[in-house]
Formats: sequence, structure tokens, C-alpha cells
Amino acid sequence: MQHLVFDNAFTNDLPGDAQVGSARRQLRNALFSRVEPTPVQGPYLMHFSESVAAGLGLSKAQCQSEDFVQTFAGNRLLPGMDPHATCYGGHQFGNWAGQLGDGRAINLGEVKTDSGHLMLQLKGAGETPYSRTADGLAVLRSSLREYVCSEAMYHLGVPTTRALSLMGTGEQVMRDMLYDGHPALEPGAVVCRVSSSFVRFGHFQMLTARQETDLLATFTDFVIRREFPTIAAAHQDAKSRYLAFFDEVCQRTAALMVHWMRVGFVHGVMNTDNLSILGETIDYGPYGWLEGFDPDWTPNTTDAGQRRYRYGQQPAVAQWNLLQLANALYPLIEETKPLEDILGGFATTYEQQWQQMMASKLGLSEFDEALTNRLLKLLTETETDMILFFRHLADVQNAESDADRLSNAYYAPDQISLDTHQQTQQWLRDYLNLAQQQGRSHQQRADAMNATNPLYVPRNYLAQLAIDDAESGNFQRLSQWMQVLERPYQWQEGMEAFAAKRPEWARNRSGCSMLSCSS
Ligand code: AMP
Ligand code: MG
Repeated sequence: MQHLVFDNAFTNDLPGDAQVGSARRQLRNALFSRVEPTPVQGPYLMHFSESVAAGLGLSKAQCQSEDFVQTFAGNRLLPGMDPHATCYGGHQFGNWAGQLGDGRAINLGEVKTDSGHLMLQLKGAGETPYSRTADGLAVLRSSLREYVCSEAMYHLGVPTTRALSLMGTGEQVMRDMLYDGHPALEPGAVVCRVSSSFVRFGHFQMLTARQETDLLATFTDFVIRREFPTIAAAHQDAKSRYLAFFDEVCQRTAALMVHWMRVGFVHGVMNTDNLSILGETIDYGPYGWLEGFDPDWTPNTTDAGQRRYRYGQQPAVAQWNLLQLANALYPLIEETKPLEDILGGFATTYEQQWQQMMASKLGLSEFDEALTNRLLKLLTETETDMILFFRHLADVQNAESDADRLSNAYYAPDQISLDTHQQTQQWLRDYLNLAQQQGRSHQQRADAMNATNPLYVPRNYLAQLAIDDAESGNFQRLSQWMQVLERPYQWQEGMEAFAAKRPEWARNRSGCSMLSCSS
């Protein structure tokens, strides 16, 4: 790993904490605290991502070396690394929570690559000043879920932080998985996450909450220079630069929400500290994938009462979070009107891109509101697997003779009412007619659909199966699954098991359809 070259702009250009180490503290006038990963007893490699490694200039052989395991489990620092935890705040479930920060994430440093810089970050590598009352560790089940899903998202074409490696620590970690008073020991793990930047909305909020306006300006200028260089170059005037930056974050966040809605991803904890300034999916916790299409569904049992972060509400929550970011940037701008106008643009952009996306999902050249709404209502009325429905719909050429191609998408095909069945038939007729009117051949429609609608997504129950195996030391299923997820839009021979809808045993098993924040 000798040739990883570090260029640590974050810690070189921004003010850090004078104190080093993990003693808990409230930070002032600084962005980060230096702290080293806590060494672990028996580190072992469960998996690494060849494509992320390649982006860092690491060979396969290097990733299989002892040095790699020791480094990315947190036992060894490479020359040029500058380990630190950053300080941010956030709104959790709608309430301002004050200082949070990287409680169990340690940034190692920014690697210079051919296409820019990439921050390496260990998650679960021990206590930091921001661990509050917790241990700074992570368990295998949540780490595997983060590792798999972030790589799957990348291959799905959804902006995301990436993951280089999944390591076991050889140590046990105590967790009360269901928060029901039954703590138990679980295997510990560390994921090395990779992104150009892990800056969140909450970093800006924290500085504004502390009324450190000069530092807010310094930090915002740093982020723009480092992550949005075209904006830095185009705007000499500070206010117009900050507004252009806010606009860009709104646009990227809108695009991200459209992607989540397209693939059926539910983040589960869209707190402002879990929204990336780059518009990437970040912090995979109690996330889930829609199985039965249901806009009200959330995988997060901690949010079961309010369902604030349910599938259908994600775009609205994103906008609420952007409003909090606008509030955080306000001291730099001191005018509400331009911020409000940009925020209004989020809704317009989202709506336009959502319509385009829905047209592509149906293989149409133009969006049809009535037809789309009729379908979404039908999908909700009977438990329908969203992923399989859109894949099978691509094969339907005739509303009468091909309709049973859809039956595999239903969880209880014999319980569909006559009325729903008839409405589905009518919808299929109208849909196929419209496609024809729009001049779409069957092949054109199917090609467009199969490029938009994935077949393989990291379904919740499949993650649980991979976790069960990994906990007993078998990483074969994980490996095979990771390979399948590299080509999510392409049918792969013999890989049916990775596309199958949720089996009945998984309906109410925890980890499969219900997850707490425990990780
Ligand atoms: P999350 O809900 O996972 O985004 O976490 C919210 C906050 O709690 C963040 O500041 C995390 O760093 C912190 N946190 C979560 N789990 C732990 C842990 N096991 N040890 C220390 N801090 C944690
Ligand atoms: Mg978080």
C-alpha cells in the first residue's frame, strides 16, 4: 500500500481541535478532532471491492495482503494518514439534537487519485470525542448491510458513498438488537467507506448553532473549492457563490430522491446529519427495499409510530432537510427570498425528473399522469413486488394472452379480487395502446424498461441470509451476491435465487423486514 499518496486538505486547511484523543467534549471554533482507530484482536477480511480498490490504484494482490487487513481493520496507519473525527449536529426525527459528530467513524485521510481525491473512512473503529455514551463499534450484520448496499447502489447508478472493505475484528460487541432488554454479544466488524467527502448538512448546521459565522464562511468556501470547483471558479462574489452552491445541493438531492423512488430504496433515517452535501446516499442503517409496493412502508422499527421516513415521504423530507440547510447558510446570505426561490426549485426539479423517470420505468417516450396514477394505485391495492412487476411488465405484449406473466410479481395471486383483476386488464390495454401511439415497438419499450428497472437489488431477506452465513465464517454467499449485484439490470443465468421475491418465512423475521437503529 506504499503508493497510496495522501493530500489531506480537510485537516490541513481547516481548524482542528487542540486536544487529541477520544475524551468526550463539545467542540468550539474547529471542525474536527484528531483520534486514532482502536486496535482490534483478530482482524480478518470478509470481502473487498475490486472496483473501489482499482479506483485507489490498489491491486487485487495488495487487497489480499496482511498489510491491507491490518490497515483497514484499524490496526496500522500508513504514512501520510491523518486520522480524525469530524464534528456535526443534526435534526433527528425533526428535532434539533445538538452536537453529534463522527461517533464511530474515523477519517484516515484523502487519497490522491487520477480523478480527484477520495477520503478513506473506517466505520466501527472505536471511540471518538463524539461517541457520547456509546462504544464507537459496529457489528457484523449492520456492517455487511452497509457494505453490500453501498456497492449495489453504485452499480444501480444511484449516487452513493462506496465501500472498499468489510473486515471482521475478531472481537465481540454487545448489542440489544431489538431494543427489548435482551442484549447479546455479536461479532464486531469495520467497513472502510470511500467518498470524495463525508460532509453532511449537519456540519453547516453545527457551525450556525454555535454562531461561529466566520468559521461557517471558511468552511463553506473550503467545501465549494474542494468539492464544487466549477462553482468556485464561476462566482467571485461570495453571496452568489453560496447561493449557487445551495442550488447545486438542491438539484443533486432532488436527483437522488428520484433514484431512490425508482429503485424502491427506503433510507430509514433521513436525519439532517445523514444527508450528504454531495447528494450521495450515505449512512446505511435500518434501510430497506420495498418488496410489496407501499408508499407508507418503512423498515425502521424506531420510526414505526410516526413513519416520518416512509418510502413515499422521502422527497418531502429531503426538502425539509434542505430548508434546515438553508437556515444554516442564512448567516452568510442574510436574505430569505433567494434561498426560498431555490428551495422552490427543488420541488419543480423533483417533479419533472420523477415524471421522466416514471415514463422510462414504463418504457414510454412521454409521461402520462392518469395512466401512471392508475398503476400506482393498483400496485398498492394488492401486495405486488415492485421490482418483479416492472421487469415482467416489459415482457407483456398482449393484455389478454400475456397478463399471467405478471402473476409472479404478486405475493398472493389467488387473493386478487375480480375487480382489481379487471382494472389491471384494462390498465394493460390502455398502456399497450399508449405505447403504440407513442410509436414504441415492443423491443424499444422493453429495452428502455430493463435499463431503468433493476432485476437484482439487495433485498432485505437476502442480506439476512448472507449475514447468517458470514456470522458462521462462510463468505461464499456474500461473494457470489456481490458479483450478481455488479450487473443489476442484466438477467444472469442460474442466479434466480438473488432475484426471488421475499419468501413467507422472511415476512416477519427481524432483519428481513423490520430493523431497529441498533448497529
Ligand atoms: P446514526 O443514527 O447511525 O446516523 O447515528 C447518529 C449518531 O450516533 C452519529 O453521531 C453516530 O456517529 C452516533 N453513533 C451511532 N452508533 C454509535 C456507536 N456504536 N458508537 C458511537 N457513536 C455512535
Ligand atoms: Mg449517521
